[in-house]
Amino acid sequence: MTDTHLLIAGETLSGDGRDTADVLDPATGEAIGQVTHATTGDLDRALEAAARGFKAWRGTGADQRAAILTKAAALIRERANEIGAAITREQGKPIKEAVGETIYCAMLLEFYAGECKRIYGRTLVRPAGSRVEVQYHPVGPVAGFAAWNFPALNVMRKIGGALAAGCSTIVKPSEETPSAGLALVQALVDAGVPGDAAQCVFGVPDEVSRHLLGSPVIRKVTFTGSTAVGKHLARLAADDLKIATMELGGHAPVLVFADSDIDKALDTMVANKYRNAGQVCVSPTRFLVEEPVFEKFRDGFVERAKAVTVGNGMDKDTAMGPMASARGLERMESLIGDAKSHGANLLFGGERIGNQGFFHQPTVLSEVSQEAEIMNEEPFGPVAILNPMAGEDAMIEEANRLPYGLAAYAWTSDPARRRRLAAEVEAGMLAIDTGGVSAVDAPFGGVKWSGYGSEDGREGVMACMVPKAIHEG
Ligand code: NAD
Repeated sequence: MTDTHLLIAGETLSGDGRDTADVLDPATGEAIGQVTHATTGDLDRALEAAARGFKAWRGTGADQRAAILTKAAALIRERANEIGAAITREQGKPIKEAVGETIYCAMLLEFYAGECKRIYGRTLVRPAGSRVEVQYHPVGPVAGFAAWNFPALNVMRKIGGALAAGCSTIVKPSEETPSAGLALVQALVDAGVPGDAAQCVFGVPDEVSRHLLGSPVIRKVTFTGSTAVGKHLARLAADDLKIATMELGGHAPVLVFADSDIDKALDTMVANKYRNAGQVCVSPTRFLVEEPVFEKFRDGFVERAKAVTVGNGMDKDTAMGPMASARGLERMESLIGDAKSHGANLLFGGERIGNQGFFHQPTVLSEVSQEAEIMNEEPFGPVAILNPMAGEDAMIEEANRLPYGLAAYAWTSDPARRRRLAAEVEAGMLAIDTGGVSAVDAPFGGVKWSGYGSEDGREGVMACMVPKAIHEG
């Protein structure tokens, strides 16, 4: 059993009559630990500490902040196997992906460490020696709320840029996957971030966010999760005009053109689809395939989906682990049933595997009607939708039909078409002839209902800063 505590003002807190909740292993469905819930008093203590922590941390020089963040990244690398194992135990993904996610957190922190030395202002020179100096300042204490699908990376994205900017942070990782996020915060504190500036709490999500966002201490909220909860938190933030970064759901289209390398597209995108059992906000979901290559793409997709090895994430041969919760399985059952009732072809999968844990087959649907719920709601599971399309105009129109706009993918060898897609596809990230939409030095975020604000890249730091103009006569 691994129990998870709170980390408030540098102190480890648990017990003392605090509520707890079970943490489950999705491979077995059994409890493997307990997570401590913060009391209202704990949250108030965290808020007071965040106010103090902001004053202390913002006053450190960029060189010192960079050195501390670099040291934390080194600790995270040293602890990557341990943190990765906690991710797999609590969330289910294959251990290789879990360790890779942890290393990516270290890389992101290393990038941010460099970036905090590059927070420049500018000087506007006026006649007669007067001038305006534009400076950037950290916005204030930041509250972060992270989802369970990337137990480490979601947390690092909430706090890495904020700490680089000089903000203090309180993060609430998901109670379903608490250990990795807490371990990252601990590494930051071990490396020298003041305990008042890097804190970790758990509780009933709605109660914690209402309490923290209800306080004037918090000046920014950053959230990863569903669009519904994102809108709710954006409303709470608006009450006090706190700034917000919202990394919400997507429904990524994949535009496959007849002029592309179909085998490369298949090898890349099938692996991408079933990564983390499809529980990825940028997961490729609607495959819009030009008619002349539809059959070839469909048959190649099904063949590869059949070859995906599903099993316990701790097993080195596993390519796809269980879904993270019973909630995910229920959602798959309901969406696939609804798609079939709207005339979709079930080409492979469609069923839960066994009755222990939350395993589901890699699933392929084709010819799915726009009326089906799965064509409109993010499935967040291991299901691909393959639809034949008449050509470029129709494909772009379908790509942009939904209110979501996080990631989009395209496979084409035509340079003019690439330019058109870059201009017209409504998404925060567009991948052309590649499956990757994330890099530590590039902004990650969406448009429309997929949210606003960016994480990663220079934008991830600037999202935690506010400009101040100093006018000198
Ligand atoms: P959810 O939005 O209810 O929960 C996501 C995370 O937000 C969880 O960790 C939860 O603890 C937290 N949360 C929920 N309500 C909160 C509140 N009021 N205040 C603060 N935090 C809160 O989503 P879910 O039920 O876990 O998953 C359902 C759907 O959410 C998925 O199908 C998917 O569409 C979306 N989702 C998106 C992402 C993403 O990476 N963008 C991640 C997880 C879930």
